[in-house]
Amino acid sequence: MRDCLFCGIVEGRLNAKVLYRDDAVVAFSDIKPRAPVHILIIPRKHIVSVLDIEPDDNALIGQIFQVAARLAHENGIAESGFRVVVNAGPDAGQSVFHLHYHLLGGRQMGWPPG
Ligand code: AMP
Ligand code: ZN
Repeated sequence: MRDCLFCGIVEGRLNAKVLYRDDAVVAFSDIKPRAPVHILIIPRKHIVSVLDIEPDDNALIGQIFQVAARLAHENGIAESGFRVVVNAGPDAGQSVFHLHYHLLGGRQMGWPPG
């Protein structure tokens, strides 16, 4: 999708520090990290938000969590702990409308999230 920032990263039109890619999933460093490890994991397919996930996407969503676990190990946060966060809609502060999973770790986190 031409006007989508994250489609631009998937398609290589926009730069990002890509840490993982396969046929369906891409992961890259967040440009404004909120934790020592802050990686965004996205489907190549343009899905706007959690609200737009369809039954045919179920395997894709599972694959994203497999990638999250792999990146947690590779970035040294598997043992110390981490969060996988998806913001949806205005109250959650979603600012990019291409589904993305934040992988956050490397520091103690508060609960509930602010
Ligand atoms: P959200 O607020 O949940 O929609 O998250 C969007 C995330 O995308 C934020 O954490 C931003 O820092 C991040 N972001 C925005 N533009 C870029 C970019 N060009 N490269 C990497 N991360 C980005
Ligand atoms: Zn997109």
